[in-house]
Amino acid sequence: MQTTQELPTTNFRIRVAVPVHLFDTFDYLVTEDQYPQIHVGARVAISFGRQNLVGIVAEKLSLHSPINSTFKLKYITELLDHEAILDHKVLSLLTWSSSYYQFPIGEVMQSALPTLLRQGKPADLLTRMWVLLDEHAENKITRSEKQQEAYKILKLHPQGTAENILNLAGIETATLKALAKKEICKCVQEKQDLSPIPVTLAQMPLTANTDQKKAIEHILKARNKYQAFLLDGLTGSGKTEVYLQVMEQVLKQGKQVLVLVPEIGLTPQTISRFQSRFHCNIVLLHSGLNDSKRLQAWQYAKSGKASIILGTRSAIYTPLPHLGLIILDEEHDLSFKQQEGFRYHARDVALYRAHLEQCPIILGSATPSIDCYALVEQGKLTRLELNQRAGSAVMPKMHVLDLKTNQKQYGISQLLINEIKKRLEHQEQVLIFLNRRGYSPVLICESCAWQAKCPNCDANFTLHQQPYPHLNCHHCGTIHRKPETCPQCHHHELKPIGMGTAKVEEHLNELFPNVDIVRVDRDSTSRVGSWQKIYDRIQTSKPIILLGTQMLAKGHHFPYVTLVAILDIDAGLLSVDFRAPERTAQLIVQVSGRAGRGEKKGDVYLQTLRPDHPLLTTLVNHDYRAFAKQTLKERKEALLPPYRYTALIRCESKNQQLNQDFLQHHAHALRLSSENLIDIWGPIPAPMERKAGRYQAHMVLLSQDRAKLHFYIRQWWLNMLHQKPSNMKLSLDIDPQELS
Ligand code: ADP
Ligand code: ZN
Ligand code: ZN
Repeated sequence: MQTTQELPTTNFRIRVAVPVHLFDTFDYLVTEDQYPQIHVGARVAISFGRQNLVGIVAEKLSLHSPINSTFKLKYITELLDHEAILDHKVLSLLTWSSSYYQFPIGEVMQSALPTLLRQGKPADLLTRMWVLLDEHAENKITRSEKQQEAYKILKLHPQGTAENILNLAGIETATLKALAKKEICKCVQEKQDLSPIPVTLAQMPLTANTDQKKAIEHILKARNKYQAFLLDGLTGSGKTEVYLQVMEQVLKQGKQVLVLVPEIGLTPQTISRFQSRFHCNIVLLHSGLNDSKRLQAWQYAKSGKASIILGTRSAIYTPLPHLGLIILDEEHDLSFKQQEGFRYHARDVALYRAHLEQCPIILGSATPSIDCYALVEQGKLTRLELNQRAGSAVMPKMHVLDLKTNQKQYGISQLLINEIKKRLEHQEQVLIFLNRRGYSPVLICESCAWQAKCPNCDANFTLHQQPYPHLNCHHCGTIHRKPETCPQCHHHELKPIGMGTAKVEEHLNELFPNVDIVRVDRDSTSRVGSWQKIYDRIQTSKPIILLGTQMLAKGHHFPYVTLVAILDIDAGLLSVDFRAPERTAQLIVQVSGRAGRGEKKGDVYLQTLRPDHPLLTTLVNHDYRAFAKQTLKERKEALLPPYRYTALIRCESKNQQLNQDFLQHHAHALRLSSENLIDIWGPIPAPMERKAGRYQAHMVLLSQDRAKLHFYIRQWWLNMLHQKPSNMKLSLDIDPQELS
């Protein structure tokens, strides 16, 4: 579409990445005065069609370069930054991501910016509150527990500390204000100083065991260059201690460390471990922060003031002038992959970033992904093992309970109930895992076999009893009141079949009437901070039953849990997705890993109808690695990922035939153009064909040659987007993690 326009030589132009779903960058005019002040990576306000948008300068053009527009060029509305807010390394990372994931550059760049910057708000720094103890604080008494806690922490920082750091330690701003009122501390508004502070140790490192020492030494050898490590350590083997000791050396060089975790809300203990080890500036970057806190954290990171940046997926795009190490913990976790819009995988982007920055990267997990084991095999990742539990803890013993032969009460086998009783009597804690929230996954009529189904999806409604009996579709969010009688035959007995966490909770209350039962799922922890409260409650040696979904599987350290029970693992064993065994094995090992992390030995009970399933027999011996080896072999034989590269096209509209015909047509075109290098599966209806009233179809593209796969898809995908009917939604997922 490029045309050359005759332009007077006095025209100064820039190329802007505009946040719209179009693949091009767009040219804008700037005045002669503006031109020298413009930096690549700065923001400009522009009008685009009828919209006013904030774009990022992608290129400053020389006076004679060809024009990337068929329209009359417009001037920018305003230059928003007088310096780049995205440095050239982050810009390269974003450009690479846009090209690799085949997603529009303007939208990709947007995702790197905190909301306030996307809205065009100023990027320079706000003031912040600095808090320090009053000289006479000791003589003033406060009875509030929260205030005493704050006082204790402030005492550790004689020169004072920033409000946001105290917030990280769980001290609320309101508490600080209350202390200030009593003249126990002073809160001073000050302009932020962005000079980094030297990092010192607040606490001595633990004495590393042999495996830890080996890993630390190995990583430190690569301290000043790119090398990627897979820290493959059993649950509770002290991976965090390895991170901390490597971080210490990197921080001492005045460099920054970026730590990526799956979900910040669920890892308060990781934060506190970093804080108690180092005196330095730590910032959190995640979506739970309000806009101004997030901008502030981002500015600290970008200016180099923050030494440790702890964030979720999107933090991978934060500008960090002195980046010296990337750590990605719980590498196998699916949350690192964005599942909508710009579908990047933070792990793969992190590997590329470490390469760009020439710094080491550590991917850590007790259950590494099969993808990572393949990278080890190819020599792209250096595998380091931690083979024993740290301290005095030992691995828990695994028991498989056959649901067919064991006597049960409420779906829990009698043997397990007895074991739970014993543990509780000894003041120990029990963790019960069930990956299904709500009361019951099925509601049927006993007379005519009617089932409660979502009218908009090919799925059953889940019955919930709280706050009133209702039916909830976990796929589209549709909610109906629970019918009193069968809508089909008016029979008045509707029966819930199967158990969700809420129903198990009810049964556990009957079985163990005097025991504290803590339910952890999305329904019980939806309020901010509720997980922290639950977490605090279980850090004491009281008999408690923790009952919950996969939120409990994520890397937590529960020192008093000695028994873990997995109530139903069979759905994971039966699924047809080729990645299902991998996910199921990871889940079993991760959940089991919560047992026996303290001084007492742990036991794990797995309830199943398939006790002889090979996956279970392998895992009973804690042999995730044997499982992984076997899985790699099978994938290799079947030419499945990671032995072939994939891309998934998802197509959605109100008409399945339209989806099928459209995909069929384009599949044919791709077959013709791609020299048989691409294998095409489908189009087929998605595993859940109808969702929220719309039909879904899939097509999977596979090839052993990644470069060629991406090459052939590129133009083809653009054509598809051009030709799609307006009521159809299409998406391209490069390296998809889920085929649903
Ligand atoms: P992982 O992250 O591998 O699951 P953690 O880092 O949470 O394991 O370590 C588990 C427990 O072991 C923690 O309480 C930690 O303080 C302790 N620990 C780690 N390394 C050592 C060590 N070298 N000596 C004693 N205790 C250790
Ligand atoms: Zn009926
Ligand atoms: Zn639905």
